[in-house]
Amino acid sequence: MTHNRDSYDLHTHSHFSDGTISPAEIARQVRDLGLRGFALTDHDTIAGWGEAAAAAQSHGVEFIPGVELTTTLGGVSPHLLGYGFDPGIAGLADRLAEFRSDRQVRAREIVRLLSADYPITWELVQKNCADTEAIGRPHIADTLVTLGVCRDRTQAFQTLLHQNSKYYVRSLEFHTATAVRMICESGGVAVLAHPAAARTGRVISEAQLAELVAAGLWGIELRHPENKPELLPELYRLADSFGLQVTGASDFHGAGKTNRLGQETTPAATVAQLTARFRG
Ligand code: AMP
Ligand code: ZN
Ligand code: FE
Ligand code: FE
Repeated sequence: MTHNRDSYDLHTHSHFSDGTISPAEIARQVRDLGLRGFALTDHDTIAGWGEAAAAAQSHGVEFIPGVELTTTLGGVSPHLLGYGFDPGIAGLADRLAEFRSDRQVRAREIVRLLSADYPITWELVQKNCADTEAIGRPHIADTLVTLGVCRDRTQAFQTLLHQNSKYYVRSLEFHTATAVRMICESGGVAVLAHPAAARTGRVISEAQLAELVAAGLWGIELRHPENKPELLPELYRLADSFGLQVTGASDFHGAGKTNRLGQETTPAATVAQLTARFRG
């Protein structure tokens, strides 16, 4: 068993996206758990990087900058983690800004549809996400909970906010292989997030994974609380045959999800190979 001090949690969300706590609070909890470090991977925003880096330094833990992207690949909707890219290079940074503004448009539209049947308003939703740079369904869920329409985020996602719900609105499309290429072109490292989690729909095929590897994919997050154990043997086989690095992480969202910080981790030796690709 790996000691905490040799491990990193490579997937966390702060209140800059749909987590419920600040990057500084995540850094403090990482220190309290005795982990060596963590990555902040908010959806479509790097707004928390500065605070996370400063807090990590003051708590004596290591910070790895990251982001999580929602992408499209055939019938699958893979999430991608991009680590260590240079936000000064236009390509990816410009796309992130587009996705953040699409999130605003999409959230307003979902709220407009819901408001026909429920007492929800855009003003109420905005009160629930004062800090976010990347509004999403979790913030709408929080408002539905406040209004007593839903019990918690999970129930809201299972009902009114589900992708088969009549209130659902699609987000902007971003082809997964294009996203992998953009992460690499911006000096970053791309990892396929939670490929065996049911909410991402169908599991990625061997041919689709081959396309991502050709685009520069470096790793695959096979240790994740939501990965379905029965799907993992085949994905481990594919990871091995494509020479992909295997990562582990919690996808911590504060109180927004049941995932516990440090629930799954990545050993320092793997993280050293990751950071060697963007530090030099
Ligand atoms: P969106 O970005 O608006 O499409 O919302 C997707 C986000 O909601 C993802 O980051 C998930 O982590 C989160 N999410 C999905 N299902 C649930 C759930 N059952 N409970 C809490 N959060 C969820
Ligand atoms: Zn999230
Ligand atoms: Fe995700
Ligand atoms: Fe996530």
